[in-house]
Amino acid sequence: MLEEYINEENTKLLMIAALYLILFTIEHYTPYFKNRQQHLPHSLRNLALAGINVLLSTLCFIVIIKHVCDWTWENQLGVLNQINLPPVYSLLLAIVLIDLWQYIWHRLNHEVAFLWKFHQVHHADKDMDASTGLRFHPIEIIYSNIIRISIIPLLGIQLDHLLVYEVLLLPIILFHHSNIKLYERLDKILRLITVTPHMHRLHHSDIQSETDSNYASVFSIWDRLFKSYTMRPIEQAFNLGLGSRYSEKKWNRLYGMLTIPFSNKRN
Ligand SMILES: [Zn+2]
Repeated sequence: MLEEYINEENTKLLMIAALYLILFTIEHYTPYFKNRQQHLPHSLRNLALAGINVLLSTLCFIVIIKHVCDWTWENQLGVLNQINLPPVYSLLLAIVLIDLWQYIWHRLNHEVAFLWKFHQVHHADKDMDASTGLRFHPIEIIYSNIIRISIIPLLGIQLDHLLVYEVLLLPIILFHHSNIKLYERLDKILRLITVTPHMHRLHHSDIQSETDSNYASVFSIWDRLFKSYTMRPIEQAFNLGLGSRYSEKKWNRLYGMLTIPFSNKRN
């Protein structure tokens, strides 16, 4: 089963790489923000950080997550095991519950000062594109995984649930971070269900009230339900990032990104 899980992880990585290349090409020819730093070097810097995170997750967490899922199943722990639905309904409910957890966790990353210190590495990117969707501080990856592990027995999550959710989540994350220009009507229809580039772009706006909104990952309903939904016309100009904080080039190099949480800039 572990071998199967690692094979699934490899397939997932290949799928993500293929989708990333497609989005990179579209961003290159029809970008939403046109005046930006060079696309390829910017993306490579973010992908270097993503590479560290993939290594970290693979080496430290895959085996632990698999064992916790097995233990949860053997002991029939958590909500999903208690209500005992047919497998397909159990999977659908698991996807909804994991996505709700993602919403809550993302919101906490903005509301708890310690968590924000690390999460701002993701938000300091003034030239958001698909590569930004993979730009997280490794310490955020570590504690997010630890928290996620503790959620598995609470919700009764199985390994298959996590795999299917990630196969759904990762392409959507790349898509909604991408610097592609969608027709307003298409963006509007898509965001009835999921998080679109324009919806998530506002989450990366340099206006604080917009940064603290649109937290959803897969299903946009959470922001509407918990009153954190923000929208404005797609053509209205705005800036990305954290204003003047961390706007210098050095903060967007690998060493700079790793040291942002330990710098003395006011958060
Ligand atoms: Zn955020």
